[in-house]
Amino acid sequence: MSRKPHDDTKTFSAKFWGARGSMAATSEETQKYGGNTACVELTCGTHTLIFDAGSGLRQLGDDIVGNHARLDARGMERPPLHLFFTHCHYDHISGLPFFAPFYDEKTTVHVYSGHLEGPDRTMRMMQDYMSAPFFPVGPEVFRAQIVPHDFEPGDVLTPERGVRISTLSLDHHNGCVGYRIDYDGRSFCYITDTTHTEGEHDMRIVEFCKGTQYMVYDATYTDSEFDRFRDFGHSTWQEGMRLAQMAKAERYCLFHHRPSRSDNALDAIVDEARETFPATDAAYEGMVVQI
Ligand SMILES: [Zn+2]
Ligand SMILES: [Zn+2]
Repeated sequence: MSRKPHDDTKTFSAKFWGARGSMAATSEETQKYGGNTACVELTCGTHTLIFDAGSGLRQLGDDIVGNHARLDARGMERPPLHLFFTHCHYDHISGLPFFAPFYDEKTTVHVYSGHLEGPDRTMRMMQDYMSAPFFPVGPEVFRAQIVPHDFEPGDVLTPERGVRISTLSLDHHNGCVGYRIDYDGRSFCYITDTTHTEGEHDMRIVEFCKGTQYMVYDATYTDSEFDRFRDFGHSTWQEGMRLAQMAKAERYCLFHHRPSRSDNALDAIVDEARETFPATDAAYEGMVVQI
């Protein structure tokens, strides 16, 4: 699939390059929704924002390289890339060393994280992930200009003019950050890797997502599975739907699919969800939504 050229219009769209959670899951039963882990690309006009560096990041990187070649051929400037981490569990970082734009000295990549503490935390996270004995080379092999940004959950980020990103600390082991991206009067919320207590609702998430056009949520489990996995730091598609309803989100999107969840099982969940909340999607690899 070829990438649309960047333009100056007010395009606001999301493309999912990986929708699976916990670990990659490729089999005949996961062809429809895909096996790659968390990676979402947002296009805001000419700007490219990337959320999470799961295994889906590799294909996005190849796509961006192709786009850069087209821009170069026309003598056009490459816009910088912005990569935001929710946190650094493996399913959100495993694509990092395989992101081709990191190996191109003519590319600038801003990297952001807010779930850790201490100085130089974003660069330190990348170094720790790409270190012996778990990985053969460190991030010094990268050739791009990498600009780290450390922030605190609750901070508002403005990576580009007109793009406003709110951040929220989520309920997840080792910390996690939810993002709300506001652009041109509309918004997209990316809430993954968070858990809940049965019968209680995280009203901070409701407030954070209030009135959004699109709310992505950690739908790893079903309510009936939740009891067995309540300490794993994830939530259920039903709880996401309840929060989306309370937040009056226009659309709700199941994300971070459990590795063992087959296409048929996900189809059945979507059918059931739509009986209550008709504007429900389940993210699949290659899915593009206009916000
Ligand atoms: Zn995860
Ligand atoms: Zn996690």
